[in-house]
Amino acid sequence: MDFTPIILAAIKPMLWVVPFIIIIGFLRTPKVKGIIGEAFVKFLAKIKLPKDIYHPIHNVTLPTDDGTTQIDHIFVSRFGVFVVETKNMKGWIFGGENQAQWTQQIFKKKNKFQNPIRQNYKHVKTLESALEIPPEAIISVIAFTGECILKTKMPPNVTRGIGYVDYIRSFSTPIFSEAQVQSLAAQIESCRLKPSRKTDREHVQNLKSRHLSVSDGVCPSCGREMVLRIAKKGANSGNNFWGCSGYPLCRTVQKIT
Ligand SMILES: [Zn+2]
Repeated sequence: MDFTPIILAAIKPMLWVVPFIIIIGFLRTPKVKGIIGEAFVKFLAKIKLPKDIYHPIHNVTLPTDDGTTQIDHIFVSRFGVFVVETKNMKGWIFGGENQAQWTQQIFKKKNKFQNPIRQNYKHVKTLESALEIPPEAIISVIAFTGECILKTKMPPNVTRGIGYVDYIRSFSTPIFSEAQVQSLAAQIESCRLKPSRKTDREHVQNLKSRHLSVSDGVCPSCGREMVLRIAKKGANSGNNFWGCSGYPLCRTVQKIT
């Protein structure tokens, strides 16, 4: 006796789940998970940090005594000026507040990178002198994005994923008036260098003149730090390469030599 028609008849009512299984399978691939995760964090950040309260200014290059400095995101609000340094990194992150270098680890591969708290300190000080506001009005925030795990206990301003939004929102005492917020935002707009490829190039030139280069982990296109990445597809799948920590603002990649 042939059971095929009976089995088919039994399965048929359940066939509608097949496309869902395929879609869920697709959504669970690491790459898609990463893209959705990042989009979700961006979406939540937009909702939880409304533009009219947390005036956002992105990718700000400011002149300094010895060249220029680049800030990923600034949020100007009545609760303070938040200076956000983003680190789009994978793997395990080890580091302490007072360590000069932190470590990123993907499987057995390790990469040292500059302590982002120190890195952002320069941004904060530059902004502080440009805006002429008291130090306590400028808040440094480190935002790790991407699939990383902070393996060491970090101070509260070192966050992961959506954590930076919650940290920013934890400041609830107004220290500026709405008019001051508008004027601070206008001041930043007026003293920043015009966002362009030329500005980025000059920033890199500045770093080079200070003898910093790719071998020091500096991105050749924007001057941010290069970090370890892992290839997800293609012939190099599973291998490490250098990628700019400014991703997705900067998409520079390099081979590990
Ligand atoms: Zn870059």
